[in-house]
Amino acid sequence: MRFLLIAFSICVLTACQLTKQPETARTVEMYNREGDMVGTAKLSEDPDGVKVKFEMEGLIPGFHGLHIHEIGECEPPDFKSAGNHYNPENKKHGLLHPDGPHIGDLPNIEADSSGKVDTEQTINDATLLEGKKNSLIDKGGTSIVITAEPDDGLSQISGDSGQRIICGEIKDDKDETDEEEPTNPAETEKK
Ligand code: ZN
Repeated sequence: MRFLLIAFSICVLTACQLTKQPETARTVEMYNREGDMVGTAKLSEDPDGVKVKFEMEGLIPGFHGLHIHEIGECEPPDFKSAGNHYNPENKKHGLLHPDGPHIGDLPNIEADSSGKVDTEQTINDATLLEGKKNSLIDKGGTSIVITAEPDDGLSQISGDSGQRIICGEIKDDKDETDEEEPTNPAETEKK
């Protein structure tokens, strides 16, 4: 109880966003094949899964494939390091496939005529919580990959969506959660 009171007081004093932004919320930086940052994906836990708000620019106008991949490594220029689509439930690829989709299959995103993307999507049945089913951050995390072509929703194994052009890593960043947590007393020893 005392901890809660103290935590609350600190929040009031520092205007922290404890109520608005739980610990699981995170911002993923999105990079293109040249290694330039082209925008962000803001992730937050939602009753249906994980909500993602994209804000990017510099894309070729039109539709592009969007998938969550199984490995949290984005090594330009081809981003093959991200592995395949995130598919913990062993389904077929494609939002239109009768035996699909992968958890990581998301609707195509559209870049407007100036190459900007400003949209929100939900990764259904996924979570940002550690140790839970379909967690996006367990085992080194996952990644968000955007492709040159739109996903046709059916073709195996990735919807015929072309080259990977943008990638962002969803992984636990220790720097972001560098706050007092009543978990491990031994850790308070470190200086
Ligand atoms: Zn897929």
